[in-house]
Amino acid sequence: MEILDGKKVSNQIKEEITAEVNKMKERGEKVPHLAAIIVGNDGASLTYVGSKVRSCERVGFESTLVRMPSTTSEMELLNKIDELNQDSDIDGFIVQLPLPEQIDTQKVIMAIDPDKDVDGFHPTNFGKMALDMSTFIPATPFGILELLERYKVDTKGKHTVVIGRSHIVGRPMSILMGRKGWPGNSTVTLTHSHTKNITQITSQADIIISALGVPNFLKAEMVKDDVVVIDVGITRVPDDSEKGYHIAGDVDFKNVSKKASYITPVPGGVGPMTIAMLLKNTLLARERHRSRN
Ligand code: NAP
Repeated sequence: MEILDGKKVSNQIKEEITAEVNKMKERGEKVPHLAAIIVGNDGASLTYVGSKVRSCERVGFESTLVRMPSTTSEMELLNKIDELNQDSDIDGFIVQLPLPEQIDTQKVIMAIDPDKDVDGFHPTNFGKMALDMSTFIPATPFGILELLERYKVDTKGKHTVVIGRSHIVGRPMSILMGRKGWPGNSTVTLTHSHTKNITQITSQADIIISALGVPNFLKAEMVKDDVVVIDVGITRVPDDSEKGYHIAGDVDFKNVSKKASYITPVPGGVGPMTIAMLLKNTLLARERHRSRN
């Protein structure tokens, strides 16, 4: 069994990005600039945004954090998005999800300029991804592809089972694993909460990508020997520790890892890869803006 070490690979990617940024600086060029909007005070969201901003600093990007109160109206947020769309200094930006209930998430995603949509959530970018065109691939699926590639995991002709069909992880992952190319060329089964006999499906899988957010959902008796397991789940489970919680993935790591050929840990697997690929998308956005201007 080999661990797919997202922490190690994400550090390599950050070093590669830092080297690119240093070259930009030597040439006297503008460095990439990522902005993040966060609405409200959700603890997990603030942690995620904080680590995205810190990662920008680490690779030499400029970053801007826009904090808005939880009472922000949809119009106020749309106006802020318009401001960032127009700001030529900003190469890419994200709006941290989830948003407070008074705000329509779809409207917000639609308002982001697709050329600055480094999360890859805008329908233009999602459509391009589905059509194998060059675009921003959503950071978590992009990170999973990169892990599979760097560990040379064979995906061609394999049966990949994706658990969860969210717009940000499961759905794009199912499209990407089924595309022509590598990683890809898999035969994909996309499962969700209405899937019947899921154990029958997972036990036939060569590769399982689990993104449902239920701790210890995937158990050893649900997988076959030598399976490749990618655990996307991040759930805060309350406990007696000082923090008051610990992070759990979707996979019973202790037992599934005994049968797996490759497996991602939680934490230290997909999570750090997601941030690294957001940085990669921002670098890509900068390069595109430079070649256009
Ligand atoms: P989400 O929007 O909550 O969707 C969960 C999906 O799982 C839904 O499609 C749901 O089916 C499906 N599901 C729920 N119970 C199921 C069951 N018993 N059997 C099969 N499918 C089931 O999920 P998400 O936003 O993709 O997040 C999933 C997990 O990944 C969460 O723990 C989240 O924190 C984590 N995450 C991690 C990263 C990272 O960087 N590592 C990034 C994003 C998300 P229905 O569609 O039928 O409801």
